[in-house]
Amino acid sequence: MISVEQLKKYFRGHIGIGEPLDNLTTFKIGGAADFYFEPVDSGDLAVLINILNEHGFPFEIIGNGSNVLVSDYGYRGAAINLERGLSDIRFSGEVLKAGAGTKLANLVDFCIDNGLHGVEMLAGFPGTLGGALVKNEGAYGGSISDYLVEVEIIRRGELKLLPREAAVFGYQFSSLSDDIIVSGTFRFPDGDKAEMKRVRRELLLRRSESQPTELPNAGLIFRNPVMNSAGRLIENCGLRGFRIGNAEIAQKHGNFIVNLGGASSMDVIRLIKTAREKVQEKFGVTLDLGVKLLGFSDGLKDEVEALVSSEA
Ligand SMILES: Cc1cc2nc3c(=O)[nH]c(=O)nc-3n(C[C@H](O)[C@H](O)[C@H](O)COP(=O)(O)OP(=O)(O)OC[C@H]3O[C@@H](n4cnc5c(N)ncnc54)[C@H](O)[C@@H]3O)c2cc1C
Repeated sequence: MISVEQLKKYFRGHIGIGEPLDNLTTFKIGGAADFYFEPVDSGDLAVLINILNEHGFPFEIIGNGSNVLVSDYGYRGAAINLERGLSDIRFSGEVLKAGAGTKLANLVDFCIDNGLHGVEMLAGFPGTLGGALVKNEGAYGGSISDYLVEVEIIRRGELKLLPREAAVFGYQFSSLSDDIIVSGTFRFPDGDKAEMKRVRRELLLRRSESQPTELPNAGLIFRNPVMNSAGRLIENCGLRGFRIGNAEIAQKHGNFIVNLGGASSMDVIRLIKTAREKVQEKFGVTLDLGVKLLGFSDGLKDEVEALVSSEA
């Protein structure tokens, strides 16, 4: 691997070594990444990706870390965060361009303040624009790609500008999952500010009533099976409030696991295993994980796979 001194000749952003990842995730769980990078702009990010690829060094983009469970043992790779260098929002009066590291909450607020309709239904989503575009996040009949004009990505080390038509977007799906999202450009129609503010207020309230937003968590743990609700299945197994170590299946919503303070990633994995086994046993439904596991490959992979596997 290239030395940090050599890397600094090419990469202009912040470099961290042994960076704790718990505070970079909403779960507040997990050990440190071997390296941590904050590129200053898209060119800097592309340079970094090319160097990492050239040296076969694993990396992961951490957006707001709101859909990730990091191993207690950390991540033997590089975590890259785009918030510092790629979170500008620029509005020309016609199109809006936002960096992938932009928090969705900031995008929603900016759009409402400027009378732009189209993302207010994402109020309360804790992720970044990059995370949202990769998954084509949506709610209440709308999605982040609805008014997308073009998306800037890094594909095979090259910065590219793709018109929206060159990508495929579906329900919680995009064809960009192997790319790094750098920015998105949108053309939003005009909206009524007062109405959008009302929608934002209502959605934030609805979320705080139905989701355990007061405790660290990583959103929905399992994907909802077709025509079914993972949360309801888990609740119907009597698992609300079920605890292992310092992690708990949320009282408010069966498909959330909350960190009561100092939970380990293995506490969470064991809860995941319990919920999967009980739902399989009682309803014959296999629940698929919705959160990304990071750092579990180091000697722990087999253990985790065995724990998570419904056959285990
Ligand atoms: C309280 C709470 C409520 C939630 N509600 C919802 C909900 O209603 N609907 C929903 O779909 N999700 C929800 N989530 C989950 C989460 O917010 C989303 O999955 C979100 O898209 C993750 O974005 P992020 O920026 O935090 O990505 P991270 O969690 O940091 O990363 C998730 C994945 O996206 C990748 N990624 C992130 N940025 C980029 C990028 N720029 N380029 C390429 N890949 C990237 C990462 O590498 C990783 O694989 C919720 C989470 C929480 C904590």
